[in-house]
Amino acid sequence: MPKLASHADLCYNKPINNVVPGGTRHTPGRTHSLEKCIVNTVSPHADNGNPPLKRCPNCSEGQQWHPATTEYFYRDKSHKKDGLSTLCRECRKKQATARYHQPEVHEQVREYRRQPEVKARDCELHNKRYQQPEFREARCKYQRERYHIPEVRTRVLEYSRLPEVQARHNERSCKRSQSPEYKAWYGEYHREYCQRPEVRTHKRIWARDYYRRPGVYGRLREYHNSYYRIYSLRPEQQLRSRVKSRTRIARKRAISGTYTVAQIQEQLKRQHYRCYYAACGYAKFEKVQGKYIYEIEHTFPLSRVAGTDIPANDISYLVLSCPKCNGNKGNKYPWEWPEGGRLL
Ligand SMILES: [Zn+2]
Ligand SMILES: [Zn+2]
Repeated sequence: MPKLASHADLCYNKPINNVVPGGTRHTPGRTHSLEKCIVNTVSPHADNGNPPLKRCPNCSEGQQWHPATTEYFYRDKSHKKDGLSTLCRECRKKQATARYHQPEVHEQVREYRRQPEVKARDCELHNKRYQQPEFREARCKYQRERYHIPEVRTRVLEYSRLPEVQARHNERSCKRSQSPEYKAWYGEYHREYCQRPEVRTHKRIWARDYYRRPGVYGRLREYHNSYYRIYSLRPEQQLRSRVKSRTRIARKRAISGTYTVAQIQEQLKRQHYRCYYAACGYAKFEKVQGKYIYEIEHTFPLSRVAGTDIPANDISYLVLSCPKCNGNKGNKYPWEWPEGGRLL
């Protein structure tokens, strides 16, 4: 028995194709004795459920034998015997890479891929694969890892700075951002993103710090004013504001009641320079360049009392509020806006 075992070991380690079980290529006698040997030894790829071995002639000496499965070999239908390619996966990959690095082959491949139908097919294939989450994940991971290689990053950055690449990129993202699907998707995403508590906190903190930076407030004001000057000069905007102010004047005329500057000043003092509404916590009016920022608020909205004889424009119907509260209240009556805390 020890003799038999060592003999089998010898047979097994010899790089001949004689470990393949089911021996149609062996004489019955030989197959029989071999199979016996294999079963008796610790062969990892014998006829005990493991796949047979296959030799890759390109691998280095001593590492040529791999299990004859698609894990180690690409499929090749032209190989009638086992349907696997002659070379192992690794060797095939190496060969393909080497071939691709030859300038003329590279150019040929590029030329081929530039054909519209090939391009379309590739694109479709890629999209299909990209829809599989595992593929997308693997690819993202691969690219992230590659991007950490300094020379790759330099190359990518250099490439992306080329004017034609930038132009192409701009054009593409412009086109994309105009497609309805993208807009819908982005709108949804952005809304969701902005509602995340951590994002909201972060934004609030950032904005507060930003406005407190020296000169920012003035600069923004300047910017808005200059923008508004241009904006208000647009013909359609001029028309719009004319119509708006006219309807407003007409409403005011139709709605009785008057007030004077002095009355507003009195009201300001009565309100202790604070907003009339609870929504902002009766916030103190902001003071910019010696002036309080507030708005004259019609407690009974002009747009809704029109046609009645309520003197909504009278000082007794007016309060002063911060711009935010005025905007939030809109054209609601006080009792329709509980946040204001003024259920008259
Ligand atoms: Zn190989
Ligand atoms: Zn307020």
